[in-house]
Amino acid sequence: MAVPKRKLSHSRKGSRRAHHAIGKPNLRPCPNCGSYGLPHRVCTACGYYKGRQVFIPRARKAKKEE
Ligand SMILES: [Zn+2]
Repeated sequence: MAVPKRKLSHSRKGSRRAHHAIGKPNLRPCPNCGSYGLPHRVCTACGYYKGRQVFIPRARKAKKEE
């Protein structure tokens, strides 16, 4: 099995990973309600897509309610 000839320094490892940052998610405001969501998808907040109601969103429950 091929084995690296010498140890990779912390600096070199870090330099290689300098480009590994996670990018910003691609979000766009809903034309109907204005909340942000993924493009080309039904709005999860109001259930609209292409100017029509696709589903009726359930009323949001407060988290950890009980
Ligand atoms: Zn919406």
